[in-house]
Formats: sequence, C-alpha cells, structure tokens
Amino acid sequence: MNFQLTQEQQDIQQRAANFAAEYVAPYAAEWDRDETFPADAIKACAEHGLTGLTVPKEKGGHGASSISYALAIMELAKACSSTAVTVAVSSMVAETISHYGTQEQIDKYIPKILSGEYIAGSFALSEPGAGSDAGALNTKVQFEGDDVIINGEKCWISSGTHAGVFVVWTRTGEGEGTRGITTYLVEPEDEGFHIGRKEDKMGLRASTTVSLQFEDCRVPQSRKMGESGRGFRIAMTALDGGRIGVASQALGIAMRAIEETHTYLKRTQDTLNGEQRQWLAEMTSKASAAKLLILRAAWLKDQKRPFSEKAAMAKAYSTEIANEICQRAVALLGEAGCNEETAVERLFRDCKVTTIYEGTSEVQRIVISRSILRD
Ligand SMILES: Cc1cc2nc3c(=O)[nH]c(=O)nc-3n(C[C@H](O)[C@H](O)[C@H](O)COP(=O)(O)OP(=O)(O)OC[C@H]3O[C@@H](n4cnc5c(N)ncnc54)[C@H](O)[C@@H]3O)c2cc1C
Repeated sequence: MNFQLTQEQQDIQQRAANFAAEYVAPYAAEWDRDETFPADAIKACAEHGLTGLTVPKEKGGHGASSISYALAIMELAKACSSTAVTVAVSSMVAETISHYGTQEQIDKYIPKILSGEYIAGSFALSEPGAGSDAGALNTKVQFEGDDVIINGEKCWISSGTHAGVFVVWTRTGEGEGTRGITTYLVEPEDEGFHIGRKEDKMGLRASTTVSLQFEDCRVPQSRKMGESGRGFRIAMTALDGGRIGVASQALGIAMRAIEETHTYLKRTQDTLNGEQRQWLAEMTSKASAAKLLILRAAWLKDQKRPFSEKAAMAKAYSTEIANEICQRAVALLGEAGCNEETAVERLFRDCKVTTIYEGTSEVQRIVISRSILRD
C-alpha cells in the first residue's frame, strides 16, 4: 500500500491545475450564465496535452495512468464542470477508439481528438426509451453494398454541437437484446445525419447536450468499430472507465464547494461556530473517502485488473456525497449560496447530473450487487 503519487501523477495534476487557473476558472461563471460552449478553452486543453490522457503511446496517445486522468478531471471540475465533462467524454471516446478501432480508424481519429483539431468527440448510446436500459436501443442499420444506412434517434448526447466524431451504437440484429448491437463511427458531415435540439439544462450550461437524428444516414462499412453484434460490450467497457471520470468530476465540484464555503465563512466571520466546524469536518471527510474510492478504481484499471465494481462504487458514492456537500454548502452560506456572489450556486446545479449520466446511482448499485453476489 502506497499513498504517494508518482512524479508523473503530480506533474499532470499540477499541469491541469495551472491550465484551469489560467484558461477556465476566470470565465466559468460567464460561460454558465451565457450558455457559451468554451470551444477555445477545450481546444487549448488538448494543446496542453490534457485530452485523451490514457490513450497508449503506441496508439498515438500520452500513455498516462488512469490515476493521472482522474486527478486532471478533478482539477478541471473545480474550475468548470462543463469543461471537465467535455474533456472527459472526448477522452472516453479516444480511449475507446484506441482500444477497439482498426489501425485506419486510430490513425484518422486519435490525432484529431488529442490535438484539439476536433473540439470534441461524442458518445451516442442513449435513445428515447433506452437510457438505463441501453440494451433496448433501436437505431437500425441496413446494409447496402459497401455502406450501411442508419435510421433512428439518439438523445442527450454531450458535446454533439462540436464533435468531430460520434461513436454510435446501432441495432444490427445478430442476436436478441444486448447481443445484436454494433458500433459505428459517424462524422458530422455524413449524409442523412442531423444534429437536433439543444437541451436547456439546469446545470452544465456551458456543455451542449443534443439529440441526433439519423435519416437514411449513409456511412461506409469501414467505419464499423469492433465486431458485429458485440457493441454492447464495448459500451459497457467504455462506461466502466467513464465512471471514474464522472466520479472525479463530482469530487472536483465537491472540493470546490468546500473551498468556497471555507473561504466565505472565514471572510465574513471572526470565528466559525461549533456547528459550522462540524459540517466542514464532515464534508471534508466524505470528500476524502470519495477520493480513495476513485483512486482505487483508477489504480485497478491501470493494473489491468477487474475494476467495474470498484468504479461503480466510486461513481455512486462520489456523486451522491458531492450533491450532499453542495447542498450543505448552500445551507452554510445562506443567501450567498443562492446567487453569483460565490460559485456555490453553480456547483449545486452542476452537481445533480453526475448521479444520472453514465449510469444512475441505482444502475451503479445493480452493477455492485451483481458483482458481490457472484463472489
Ligand atoms: C446532461 C446529460 C448528459 C448526457 N450525456 C450523454 C451522452 O453523452 N451520451 C449518452 O449516450 N447519454 C447521455 N446522457 C443520458 C444518460 O446517460 C441517461 O439520462 C441515463 O442513462 C439515465 O437514463 P434515463 O434518463 O432514460 O432515465 P431512466 O432510465 O428512465 O431512469 C429513470 C429512473 O429510474 C431508475 N431506474 C431505471 N432502471 C432501473 C432499474 N432496473 N432498477 C432501479 N432503478 C432503475 C433510474 O435510476 C432513474 O432514477 C446524458 C444525460 C444528461 C442528463
């Protein structure tokens, strides 16, 4: 057991903190207020080597550890969770392509995502009627010569307005339910592909979330990623890693809420009363516990050991305590927690969705209970 970060992990954490302080934190409140997608900052993030951190070097990536990735997402989320989620989803897309893509797909997409030439990558799994039950997805594919024709709809797709590539799960029908699903890479210019309505969200207002329509969308067969009929496995593997990212995002939000509360109380009061001290101690202890769960899941992933159950624990716990912490921060600040005087109001709104996307808390507990009952 060693709780010391390696030099690489410390360097990446510091690089992310420096980047966030200069390019993100000063503008985050304004982006949120105006619903501005921070395309320039997202591009700069890639240029600073912070997008797709875990893509292996031999696949054109940075070859960093999942622990470094988790620490970087925490730093970005402290400054702006919309930026953090955009970078996290693009990183998940890049890692998935690096793992399952053909050499041609890797050569085409990885450099563009990691350099910022593509502002983002999107992960298009959810559909109306197929959220938690992703195996019920119904976007259909027909085969026509060297092409496939895709018809269907995806919903709530992060960064869809700016993505250069979409990983899209379709039903190709090799088997029932989760067995007949195949993954294709779709580009925004593809014939019959339309980016739909932008959601007007309660939080993450600087991140875009859109529906996608496929109306006889024509894509070459060469864009198939992974084996036919095995796409569900690809989605679940990607989400296992993605959950470390969402947990880190939630923890970054919680850490910032604690910092804001601490700073505000010290600025406005001569001494903190006993109850305030109790709450700060509890918030900080829970955030520390979440960090240990996240780093354990990331460490297991780095060791190439099973980490699905531990990532689900990290996600369920971190996102739920982050919501608790933000709620308590609003309560401790009173009026100042309800307006733009501090970042707490934005953190409170941004935090909620972390318990929903990439699997709700109930879905995480299904993953955990299946795993512990099998043991
Ligand atoms: C801001 C935002 C961004 C998103 N970005 C993306 C994206 O980039 N790509 C993408 O593919 N999707 C994305 N999503 C979709 C997200 O993954 C889904 O919202 C999520 O999976 C939940 O699905 P649902 O909303 O359909 O809820 P439902 O599945 O309808 O669930 C509703 C409630 O029922 C509970 N429930 C459902 N099934 C069970 C069960 N078996 N046991 C116990 N409880 C259950 C859920 O936990 C939840 O509380 C995003 C969503 C949001 C809000």
